[in-house]
Amino acid sequence: MTKSGTAQSYLPTLRPGGSPAQGLDTLREAAQRCRGCELYQGANQVVFSEGPPDAAVVMVGEQPGDVEDKKGEPFVGPAGRLLREAMEEAGIPVGDTYLTNAVKHFKFHQDSGSKRRLHDTPKRTEIVACRPWLLAEFALLRPRVVVALGAVACSALVGPAFRLTKVRGQLLDWPDVADHPEDYPSLDPPAQFVATVHPSAVLRADDRDAARAAFVADLIAAGAVMAPDRRGSTAKRPSAR
Ligand code: SF4
Repeated sequence: MTKSGTAQSYLPTLRPGGSPAQGLDTLREAAQRCRGCELYQGANQVVFSEGPPDAAVVMVGEQPGDVEDKKGEPFVGPAGRLLREAMEEAGIPVGDTYLTNAVKHFKFHQDSGSKRRLHDTPKRTEIVACRPWLLAEFALLRPRVVVALGAVACSALVGPAFRLTKVRGQLLDWPDVADHPEDYPSLDPPAQFVATVHPSAVLRADDRDAARAAFVADLIAAGAVMAPDRRGSTAKRPSAR
């Protein structure tokens, strides 16, 4: 896929010396005009991210759902509610968490005669097309732990060969775990990576209680990374791409 078939050509140039918060606002605003793949055509709007740029926890989901697409905010539908409850149980403060998605537009289909919009999993080409936004976000963030919610997030963050089921809930070195760690800033203190399922998978599980407990356990593992005192941490930031 050429760069013209991705979001790359829609990325803005960030103001030199601008703060990460200003940078994220600039990205958020520019993403509204993205035509890097076809997904903008059916969706109502780009759903970008929520949370402070200095958040200790960065969580990456798959894509906005029906509710998120209507409201323009990430993780505000049923899966998002479950995620926020699980975070609370795991002791991860929502206020110290940056929430975003691998793909910024809602991909869906409608059965004939139905108004209901049913989620479709993004294709690899769509994940790759949207990845420049994700990398631009990471260039501005300095997490202590990165949490991938589901296989699409793992594919976007780490690479298509990553097998979530093999290492689910384990602490892995970030960004070394990625196929291309050079795509991300190196952080001091170093960060960790945890892969778990998407909260929508918990909602769909036959044994929802067991699935929920396993999901919370993964988030507890992620939350344990956060040291009580993060003062003095610094990040070596490459310029945003
Ligand atoms: S899904 Fe991503 S790459 Fe595709 S149009 Fe939306 S913002 Fe651009």
